[in-house]
Amino acid sequence: MAKLTWPHHEAQRLFKQVGGTKESVIFETGYGPSGLPHIGTFAEVARTTFVINAFKRAYPDVATRLIVFSDDLDGLRSLPDNVPNHDLLRPHLGEPLSSIPDPFGQEASFSAFMNRQLQNFLDYYGFTYEFYSSTLTYRSGRFDEGLRRIMDCYEPIRDLFTATISPDKRQEWSPFFPICAACGKIYTTRVTAIDKLNYTLSYRCDQSDGKYQPCGHVATTPITGGAVKVGWKVDWALRWFVLGVDYEMYGKDLIDSYAMSQKICALLGGKPPAGYKYELFLDENGAKISKKIGNGISMEQWQAYAPLGALLHFLLANPNKARQMGMPILPKIVDDYLKALRTEARDDEYGTLWFIDQLQHHHDASGLRNSEIGYALLVNVAENLGLHEGAVLFEYASRHDPSVLENEPFFRELCVKVVAYVQDYQAKLPQQSLDIDIRYAPYLRDLRQAVQALTDRGEFEANNLQNAVFTVSRCYGLVQSEWFKFLYQALIGKDKGSRMGTFLAVLGAERVLAMLDGAIARFLPLVASFQAEALEPILANAESISADENVHVYPIVGAMQIDPDGVWQIKTKALITDLLEQPLLLEGPDRESAEPIDAQVEKERIYQQASTLLSACLTGLQRAIGPLLRASE
Ligand SMILES: [Zn+2]
Repeated sequence: MAKLTWPHHEAQRLFKQVGGTKESVIFETGYGPSGLPHIGTFAEVARTTFVINAFKRAYPDVATRLIVFSDDLDGLRSLPDNVPNHDLLRPHLGEPLSSIPDPFGQEASFSAFMNRQLQNFLDYYGFTYEFYSSTLTYRSGRFDEGLRRIMDCYEPIRDLFTATISPDKRQEWSPFFPICAACGKIYTTRVTAIDKLNYTLSYRCDQSDGKYQPCGHVATTPITGGAVKVGWKVDWALRWFVLGVDYEMYGKDLIDSYAMSQKICALLGGKPPAGYKYELFLDENGAKISKKIGNGISMEQWQAYAPLGALLHFLLANPNKARQMGMPILPKIVDDYLKALRTEARDDEYGTLWFIDQLQHHHDASGLRNSEIGYALLVNVAENLGLHEGAVLFEYASRHDPSVLENEPFFRELCVKVVAYVQDYQAKLPQQSLDIDIRYAPYLRDLRQAVQALTDRGEFEANNLQNAVFTVSRCYGLVQSEWFKFLYQALIGKDKGSRMGTFLAVLGAERVLAMLDGAIARFLPLVASFQAEALEPILANAESISADENVHVYPIVGAMQIDPDGVWQIKTKALITDLLEQPLLLEGPDRESAEPIDAQVEKERIYQQASTLLSACLTGLQRAIGPLLRASE
């Protein structure tokens, strides 16, 4: 893997920006407590922590702090799907989240519950942070000085903003959102006048968007002490200014807001933080992840199906590149992590493991250098065997690979997660309709023969099995990718899978032979009927082919064979068609001869061979197809 440099670059950039002027460098991440913490919350805190750890490593004498700021003075605009008791919440729409009752009935307010969830969530994963509630920060008076500055800068801020909104809304615009003293709502009030000298404003509670009702109250209030909140772009700037935030990441969807907040922060007299824009996650099809569509992956799913280290490893890749995540590609994401565990040094600060260990405080597995056990492989094994228990899967994995036993706790847990993934997710997918090319089915018998031979010789082992699969395709000149695709389809019902030799080795000889027998019994009857269809035109032309001077039957030797059952093995329909159109091949592709070839002698030899072959072909064809043709008459 390439050197992991972005957290280090960020640390250097930040150090240059603060210039050693601060006692401690302050990082911030935000949280909207209108819903439960999710994987995006985790991602932002984790990535910020990566930069913090790189910073601490480079500048051990500078203290760092991470502020996790919850916007709990924001109003509730709609009823979230994933919380209960909508009837309890509905009358409170438009009120600050910290004034609304907890729908779960556990905490003093809606946001107190969500804030508790957030802190439990961050504590569970071992993050170091300081929690800030917007409500408490406003009410404590900590923002008062900043709020007065906003009033002082009312005109320039207003000019900045109104340039970005439609003319009919400019008149009404205000950075201030007073909380109605009568009904408690924040989204129903309208500022009617400001008093810059006394830092007060007057408002009227008369705004409605249909979901929340205004009460008509009219009042004048100080802008300080939590009676008035500022709109969120101003709020972001206020926070940076008052708390002295030096570094904050933001999603690509907030580019414009971030730029606006930076300007406002500067107007207030603050130094905007070093910002870092990250790309949003995409699903496996490249679509934006949305909670509504339910694509993507939740934190609960991740915990159930994959190691946390794999998520951290995923998040360590360059955040400036849009990354795909989702249930279908989870095996690949975990296998990328296992690859890091196999190849990276733990103490290399330019590797992912160093960052992951800093956060996890333990190392998942070591000594995996030659291990072939991976998530996708275990998924294939669990599916193929219909396993319901992680312990059984672990038995299979550890029998095959000693490093699994050496890292028993990690792999035991991984096997449990794999089985859960297969049961909860894979097994419930709609059956994939496979476009199986049954012309490859006859070669299953060759493979079975090879596997039996390996078993008898005590050489049933991943590399030998992999070679056996290749040998069959080389022997018959099969299109290798198609042959492998056919095997995956026939053995696991998918177009692709993990490395075939390893997969077979983990399953064990008995299971593999039984599987091949099953596939042979299933597919060969289909082949016979296909052949009748494919050979019909050749049969019709066979007489004229053998009489033709330019017959080119030499490669047919490789293409067709008559076996004792009279079943034809055919390479492909396309090849036979080609044969009928190509000029005579004087030399086979693999033909090697020490003697110089006498063209005339060689030609005669080929004709002789071709004629014998064709006559055998004709007999075999008639024997194979005759009954089928008669049956269809
Ligand atoms: Zn009101």
